[in-house]
Amino acid sequence: MDLPVKTFCPACGQAAGPADNFCPHCGKEFKSHALPVSFYGQVAAYAVSLFLPPFGLWYVVKYLRRGNPQAKRVAIIAAILTAISIIYTIYLFIGIINSATQSINELNSLGL
Ligand SMILES: [Zn+2]
Repeated sequence: MDLPVKTFCPACGQAAGPADNFCPHCGKEFKSHALPVSFYGQVAAYAVSLFLPPFGLWYVVKYLRRGNPQAKRVAIIAAILTAISIIYTIYLFIGIINSATQSINELNSLGL
């Protein structure tokens, strides 16, 4: 599988996959915290942040821990998406409660 984000081995200079912990050419161990987030990693982080807001924070923490500026940016975007999603969920929830309260009030006023 050819991932869009490539990492290069600092020892031998050959291309390596972003998820590799060791260089496939010379075997040097990579410091995984310094690696950028792959395209699929970003998509997963944003999707989870939007649709499963509390779990998005796991990605935020995970990517903030990496020293990589690109990973930090992904973490900040994921945090913003998580916040938007939580606010939207609360907003929806208040709307459902309001309409339920309204229906109950209407039924009460009809004497049911
Ligand atoms: Zn290497």
